[in-house]
Amino acid sequence: MSSPFSVNRPCRLQDVPGWDQETEVLVIGFGAAGASAAIEAASAGVRVLLLEASSGSGGTSALSGGEIYLGGNGGTPAQRNAGFSDDSEDLFRYLMMAGGPDADEAKARLYADNSLDHYHWLVAQGVPYKNTYLPQKMVEPVTDDCLIWSGSEEAWPFSEQAKPCPRGHTPQWEGWGGGRLLMDILAARVVELGVEVHYDSRVLALVVDDAGRVHGVVARCDGQPRYVRAGRGVVLCAGGFVMNREMVRRHAPQLMHNENPIGTPGDDGSGIQLGMSVGGAAIHMDEAFVSLPFYAPESLVRGIFVNERGQRFINEDCYHGRTGYHILRQGGDRVFLLADNACFERPPEFTRIDIAAVGETWEEVEQELGLPSGSLAESVDFFNRHAAQGQDPLFHKAAKWLNPLDEPPFVALDCRFDYAFYPHFTLGGLDTLPTGQVLTQQREPIAGLYAAGRTTCGLPRWGGGYSSGLSLADASFFGRQAGRHVATQG
Ligand SMILES: Cc1cc2nc3c(=O)[nH]c(=O)nc-3n(C[C@H](O)[C@H](O)[C@H](O)COP(=O)(O)OP(=O)(O)OC[C@H]3O[C@@H](n4cnc5c(N)ncnc54)[C@H](O)[C@@H]3O)c2cc1C
Repeated sequence: MSSPFSVNRPCRLQDVPGWDQETEVLVIGFGAAGASAAIEAASAGVRVLLLEASSGSGGTSALSGGEIYLGGNGGTPAQRNAGFSDDSEDLFRYLMMAGGPDADEAKARLYADNSLDHYHWLVAQGVPYKNTYLPQKMVEPVTDDCLIWSGSEEAWPFSEQAKPCPRGHTPQWEGWGGGRLLMDILAARVVELGVEVHYDSRVLALVVDDAGRVHGVVARCDGQPRYVRAGRGVVLCAGGFVMNREMVRRHAPQLMHNENPIGTPGDDGSGIQLGMSVGGAAIHMDEAFVSLPFYAPESLVRGIFVNERGQRFINEDCYHGRTGYHILRQGGDRVFLLADNACFERPPEFTRIDIAAVGETWEEVEQELGLPSGSLAESVDFFNRHAAQGQDPLFHKAAKWLNPLDEPPFVALDCRFDYAFYPHFTLGGLDTLPTGQVLTQQREPIAGLYAAGRTTCGLPRWGGGYSSGLSLADASFFGRQAGRHVATQG
């Protein structure tokens, strides 16, 4: 028998037969956003219930690198130890650029001014940071070091508008995946503060009155529908929608050509759908983090990308997610990373970046790829002539990455979007105030409804500006804002 409940259709208050459970604040989802919201709400002294669809805490946050984008106010201990001083204005300007044409100024300002405090909050919860610095270009440290360049801070055009500073902070953890440690620590804190947590409890629908106020939810707990009242409000922290292929097809169809969505089955869009079901506006639903993790090896940054017309299109020293964003905008299926003998190193196997052509001249490579005569060879020639002078007039790649690609043999690496490893997740979601209040299309707050993390469109909202650590920064920081607001003013 099909369920009478739907994330797309709210349950009317008058249809609730009776409440099975009552709380003051109800948090949906136990990832970084939900844990942070629950910690703040419980710390404010109100009763908090957390419902999680899966059988444990963590969500996609636990799969992650645990890297958080932090800085400002002179710098975190890690930044200062490494000799950097990070001005909040530079962080603000960077966040505004990273947010793209529709950056959320209020959120960027609040985060820039309070990011250092957020670092101290994370430490106070028990998150360990070794506060050491790794200067190399990398996706994520595999050692237990802390600070890395995790975005496009040093690359054009970002470097021109905000003084560059590394801001990716990873917890003290050996190997990839510090997110599990981060989530274990936040989850322990949630429990310590007396938050009641129910696992295997999927929210099926919101409960709303005729005036549009959200009063609670219908959830499936232990296989049974349960009506749960939230006196102050519901906070949706249910992740993004990259695993809901129908939603992806509708909103971000460009992602359908690659088979590497990353996340958990919980990223099914239900949080966004629940918010929309009561009039919440979903924005930038076409935006995504799409990465081509072609470095390390760092030396490949000295190579150049060309599209299937042999044209260059990006400064290769920018963040790998910005490269992915621009690759998707090239039209055509084929994209190549060109390297000469001096800078070539084989990318790791997991990237599925294979060799497409090799030659003693760039003309040979061009021919082997079947590109129009003169196209690729002329792009390389133009690049080489200027690189020899330490210049890149087209894309302003920094001088330290500029070398003519003139040492044979030459190689073209195959970076096709439908074949290579392009991990991706969605950035679009519910429109919210910095307080976490969910907004309608008219930007009116919906009474009793809050959201945070990838259920919302937060600080990270543009693939061309995404930087590692921004999603967890946004989820944890704005989760906290939502938890505090719902507890004190909901
Ligand atoms: C491999 C990998 C590495 C990454 N590394 C980083 C990184 O280092 N730094 C960074 O900033 N970002 C990183 N990201 C992205 C980041 O992890 C996520 O965007 C972020 O964790 C989202 O947090 P969240 O709290 O919004 O959602 P989640 O952590 O996914 O939590 C949502 C929870 O809600 C639950 N849920 C969903 N629907 C319902 C429902 N209807 N009822 C009840 N519960 C529900 C889910 O089961 C889940 O537990 C990475 C992602 C991946 C996959």
